[in-house]
Amino acid sequence: PRGLAWFRRDLRAQDHTALYHALTRCEQVFCAFVFDKDILDALPRADRRVEFIRESLVELDGTLRALSQQERGGLIVWHAVTSDAIPALASALEVQAVFTNHDDEPQALERDRRVRTRLAAAGKAFHTFKDHALLERSEVLTQTGNPYSVFTPYKNAWLKKIDAFQLKSYPVERHAHHLAARPQAYCQPVPTLRDLGFEPTTLPQLRLPTGARGAQQLFDEFLGRIARYEDTRNFPAVKGPSYLSVHLRFGTISPRLLARTAHRLMLEGNPGATTWLSELIWRDFYFQILHHHPHVVGRSFKPAYDAIQWESGPDADALFAAWCEGRTGYPLVDAAMAQINQTGYMHNRLRMVVASFLVKDLGIDWRRGEAYFATHLNDFDLAANNGGWQWASSSGCDAQPYFRIFNPVSQSEKFDPEGKFIRRYLPQLAALPTKALHAPWLARPLELQEAGVRLGDSYPLPVVEHDAARQRTLERYAVVKTFT
Ligand code: FAD
Repeated sequence: PRGLAWFRRDLRAQDHTALYHALTRCEQVFCAFVFDKDILDALPRADRRVEFIRESLVELDGTLRALSQQERGGLIVWHAVTSDAIPALASALEVQAVFTNHDDEPQALERDRRVRTRLAAAGKAFHTFKDHALLERSEVLTQTGNPYSVFTPYKNAWLKKIDAFQLKSYPVERHAHHLAARPQAYCQPVPTLRDLGFEPTTLPQLRLPTGARGAQQLFDEFLGRIARYEDTRNFPAVKGPSYLSVHLRFGTISPRLLARTAHRLMLEGNPGATTWLSELIWRDFYFQILHHHPHVVGRSFKPAYDAIQWESGPDADALFAAWCEGRTGYPLVDAAMAQINQTGYMHNRLRMVVASFLVKDLGIDWRRGEAYFATHLNDFDLAANNGGWQWASSSGCDAQPYFRIFNPVSQSEKFDPEGKFIRRYLPQLAALPTKALHAPWLARPLELQEAGVRLGDSYPLPVVEHDAARQRTLERYAVVKTFT
């Protein structure tokens, strides 16, 4: 039989579940990716993610061609409405089955339902596999058979359940002789950004390596410092985390390879690897929250929190704009927003700080921040992003208590003690003494003058006063107490 391996958020040819199953079950396997018009049309015309995907597809196409050892081997790439394109391709290529990996985001599930129905009508099968998560859906449940909503017991159950089978690799290369040659009409190169209607971005200047090779390079480099992860991961000026999130998002590296390596290092007593594996478990945790509680898209995980009245109107809009553009007057918040705006990445500690600031200092609905991150993060992932925002707004599962409110100045003193990160992203403050850098409005006039900082001009005064904002937040959240 003939099969079609459909790539989505798994842009690699190594250890790929759906491709492996297609190759072991079919004589001839075609490979395809569709740039979905419905998704692309809604994006800004310069989008780093589109460029990242395109670069990664160019590499994937080359890898598949090399693996197939055929001149016409390689990836078929279309720019179309996916739910039309996949059934059309399956018919044109005369395959009996389409193989793909799970994508549990609500819109993706809806798309897959349409594809499955159309394929079924044409007498073709649609096989889907776990690949993106390590343990997914209902694989980790409580003893009473319910999904977990608190991380630590989930993690403990996850660690009990994970085994060599779950972490094993799917060796595509051993079966690569089943990769088919594309018909001549399907041999076009990967479309250019211009073909897709997009403009080049700053991606090439970011030193963010793309594709499976880029991911492997980052992982190799991270393994050299994973032992120190626990000690370094909270300091944005330090190279602490792996920076693999965008690769995990688009599947340019196998999550099993990462978890297998971290698990082995954990058993060898590597403290950093133990903590890092926990982060991969958080990823699975939020996938399963989204799977079991799809209402979190747009609504609070805990319904009582939907009663909160957020700030709205022109003043709130102006505060939101100040947050987005990094003009709040709180240097750590502003530097973090400069980081996301310039690079599409933001350090995890800073995601927590800026999310808390938006919701609990500015009183703005977490969904507005979530949407901003969704547009600007290279690694935007619905489940993790929603989980992170609901954690910060205290409306989520296992969220921080609503009365615990980050102080943006003490966070700055604690996690950027020398002000290195702030100086990197806010050069207009770079000459300030470190103490003044965390709260410039408290600096002595002479310090400001010597550093060339004119508050309210070269750098803003704080848009809110933290202690007063904290009090307003406690009052705002009081409505929740009456419900719970
Ligand atoms: P590392 O520290 O090296 O962690 C390794 C991997 O573990 C990450 O790449 C990621 O896949 C996973 N991971 C780590 N922390 C989390 C977490 N809290 N939840 C889920 N997975 C995690 N992560 C995203 O991948 N996409 C998002 O859209 C996203 N939005 C967030 C929004 C907010 C408000 C917050 C607080 C966190 C968000 N995170 C998101 C989680 C986390 O900040 C990023 O995964 C991390 O900063 C990525 O950097 P890294 O790859 O260097 O991480």
